[in-house]
Amino acid sequence: MDYPLLTSFSSTNRSLFLFLFLFVLLNTCLLLPNPGVAVAEDESSAVISRFQQYLQIDTAQPSPRYQEAADFLISQAKSIGLESQIIEFAVGKPLVLLKWAGSDPTLPSILLYSHTDVVPVEQHKWAYPAFSAQLDSHGNIYARGAQDMKCVGMQYLEAVRRLKSSGFQPVRSIYLCFAPDEEINGHDGAEKFADSDIFKTINVGIVLDEGLASPTEKYRAFYAERSPWWLAIKATGSPGHGSRLYDNSAMENLLKSIESVRRFRASQFDLVKSGLKEEGEVISVNMVFLKAGTPSPTGFVMNVQPSEAEAGFDIRVPPTADPEALERRIAEEWAPVSRNMTYEFKSKATVYDKFGRPLITKTNSNPWWVLLEEAVRKANGKLGKPEIFPAATDSRHFRFRGLPAIGFSPMANTPVLLHDHNEFLNKAEYLKGVEIYESIIKAYASYAEHASNEGTKDEL
Ligand SMILES: [Zn+2]
Repeated sequence: MDYPLLTSFSSTNRSLFLFLFLFVLLNTCLLLPNPGVAVAEDESSAVISRFQQYLQIDTAQPSPRYQEAADFLISQAKSIGLESQIIEFAVGKPLVLLKWAGSDPTLPSILLYSHTDVVPVEQHKWAYPAFSAQLDSHGNIYARGAQDMKCVGMQYLEAVRRLKSSGFQPVRSIYLCFAPDEEINGHDGAEKFADSDIFKTINVGIVLDEGLASPTEKYRAFYAERSPWWLAIKATGSPGHGSRLYDNSAMENLLKSIESVRRFRASQFDLVKSGLKEEGEVISVNMVFLKAGTPSPTGFVMNVQPSEAEAGFDIRVPPTADPEALERRIAEEWAPVSRNMTYEFKSKATVYDKFGRPLITKTNSNPWWVLLEEAVRKANGKLGKPEIFPAATDSRHFRFRGLPAIGFSPMANTPVLLHDHNEFLNKAEYLKGVEIYESIIKAYASYAEHASNEGTKDEL
C-alpha cells in the first residue's frame, strides 16, 4: 500500500523521495546517539564507578579503614534516601545499618547482610594494585573484595536504588547491614549484632549473606556451612637413642595417627572425586602443623628420638555429619590413650543451633528459598541445587538463633577467586547481579504472608 503523500509523485520522483527519506532516517539512527541507550550506558557506568569507589577503600585486615567505608556507605544511603545508623559494638569497628521501611511493620523484616572487611593481599603477585579497582579491556574489575564481598554489598544498594526510583513500595521492611570483622571470626561484628537488642527490635525474618562465584552459568546458593574444628593431637613416649628400634616412641605413635587421619581424608575425598558428594557435604581434614624434634643450634639433634610430638588439623564438619561419631573416631583412632596420646580442640564450632537442631536453613517447604528460586528465574538467571558452604561465614551467627539464612552471591561464569591473587569480577556479571537482587528484594519485600503461613521462625 502506498502512502497517500507519495501518490502524487511520479515513480522516479517517488524512488528519489524514498531514497532521501531512508537516507535521513538511517542518519538519524546511526549518527545521532539513541537517547535511551545513552541513558542506560550512563547509568551503568555510574553503577560501576560506585562499585569501584567502594573497592578502592582499603579495608584489609588487620587494619581495615572502617570509618572511610562507613562514610562512603552512609553517603550512598543518603543519595538513595534510606535511614541510616552506625553501631559500634567494639571501638573503631562501625557496623552500618540502613533501613527502607515497609508498609506493614508487623511483618518480620528482610536483612541484606554483607561484611566490609577483606583479607590481606600479597601485592607483588597481583597484576594491578589490589585497591585500584582497575577495569581491564575485558571488562574485568580487579580488586580485593571484588568477589568477597563488596560486590554483594553494593549490589544490594544498587538494587534498592533502582526499586526506589521505580516507585516500588516494600511491604516488609528491608535492612542493609555492613558489618566489620567477618574475616577474623565476626566476634565484634555479626556475632554481637545478632545478640544485640537492636537486632531483636528489627525483627528479622530472613537473612541473605554471601555465597561463592560459580564457574558455570548457574548461580550457587547455600543453606548451611561446615563448622571448623581445629584439632591438635599430641603423642608422648620414651626418648631414646636415634639408633634404637623400640615400640611406643612419640614419633611412632604420632605417625600411626597421621596415617589413620590420612586414610579417613582419602575416603572423604574419594566421595567428592566420584561425584557422590559435593565438597561441602563431606568432612574435610587437612594437616596444618607438625611439631616435633629436639632443637639444636644447627637445626635438630639427629641422634635423639624425642619424647613428644604434635600435629594439628583443620577439620570441617558439615551439619549433616554425625559429630559424636567423629569425636569417637578422634578419641579411639586418632589420639587413643592406648598409644599415650591426648588431644585438644583449639577451636570447635557447634553444628547445632541454640535449640539443639542441626545448623541448616531448610530448602524444601521454606517460602524464602522458593521465592529466591523464582526471583532468580524471573530475572533470567539459573540456580544450581542447594549446597553446603565449605568454609565459615557470618550466616552461622543467624542460623544459630534459629533464623533462616541463605548464602548467595550472584556471580556466574566466574572463577572462584575469593582470598586469591588477582580477585576480579566482570562488570557485565556485576550488573546482571544487580538485576537479580532487584528481582529477589522485590519478591521478598512483597511477600505479605503472616507468620502462620511462613511457619514459625523456629521452623524456618
Ligand atoms: Zn566473605
